[in-house]
Amino acid sequence: MNKRLQRLQEKLAEHSLEAILISQPANRRYISGFSGSSGYLLVGREQAFLITDFRYLEQASQQAPDFEIRKAKENLAQSLAPLLDETGWRQVAFEKNDLTYALYSELTQGTSVAWKPLAGLVEELRMIKDEQELAILRRGAAVTDAAFAHILTMIKPGVTEQELSLELEYFMRRRGASRASFRYIVASGPRGAMPHGTASSKQLAAGELLTMDFGAVFDAYCTDITRTVCLGEPDEQQRRVYEVVLQAQQEARARIRPGMTGREIDALARNLIKEAGFDEQFGHGLGHGLGLEVHEEPRLAPLSKTVLQPGMVITVEPGIYIPGWGGVRIEDMVLLTAEGAELLTHSPRELIIV
Ligand code: ZN
Ligand code: ZN
Repeated sequence: MNKRLQRLQEKLAEHSLEAILISQPANRRYISGFSGSSGYLLVGREQAFLITDFRYLEQASQQAPDFEIRKAKENLAQSLAPLLDETGWRQVAFEKNDLTYALYSELTQGTSVAWKPLAGLVEELRMIKDEQELAILRRGAAVTDAAFAHILTMIKPGVTEQELSLELEYFMRRRGASRASFRYIVASGPRGAMPHGTASSKQLAAGELLTMDFGAVFDAYCTDITRTVCLGEPDEQQRRVYEVVLQAQQEARARIRPGMTGREIDALARNLIKEAGFDEQFGHGLGHGLGLEVHEEPRLAPLSKTVLQPGMVITVEPGIYIPGWGGVRIEDMVLLTAEGAELLTHSPRELIIV
């Protein structure tokens, strides 16, 4: 029996729900094991259906043995109507952050159940990784580290950010990744001031800091790492900013414990950066969960009330961004254990001079 499905069914009971319609692709895959690109799950406390179109019927029956597979009809309401009749479910939750207004209208007009908006039920389960997920993430993190070691051999003045971005992705795809987990940030010199400065045609120049934020998808799981290196000897300001970010990252990693909230961990790094005089220059959250999606729950951010638990995989990624000058970010993937944070990425963190 599928443990994830079982846990979702327990949650339905806890929330006094008869059933839930799952449309969010990562949630669908997580609960059912079905990796096709289209389909819906309709899950009750004792019965579970997977609706998909003709192309995927065979694949679905192989990948999701705990689900009754039903062929999709002309629209979602028509696909669901016979299942709702059969089960007698009258109150069904749907994923309000995913279902489009068009589909919602279709459901409310085409079926006679009470649709209840809901968020986060499956996402909550996904926060805690099981052994199988951890094995994939560890393997992916090792390849991501290897990509960083490899890219160091290519960094020199004249090379463009795009070339580095492409090489990082190529390296990981040669080693089993199916795709990049997001558009890479390769930002050199003043472009480093943009926390999300995706790779451009700009050439690297001597004396610049270079921030690279990258990762790839391994067996559906995303990796994510950032390193900042210096082309040639860093000046005083470059050294100082790097040192503050590194200290903030180390401080946060060393003090993370289960039971703390996302806000409390964020504050560990944020306060240190603030005390160093860079308060306005760290404008994003300290980190995020990652797994089937590159940004998922929990969030480490000033407003996050989520309580951290062992088994969560999160990033720790403080940064300082100074307009017109550049930026520094250092990001690692960590697994939260009963004792604290276990690093999954191991690339060197001291300032590398290339
Ligand atoms: Zn990243
Ligand atoms: Zn990240």
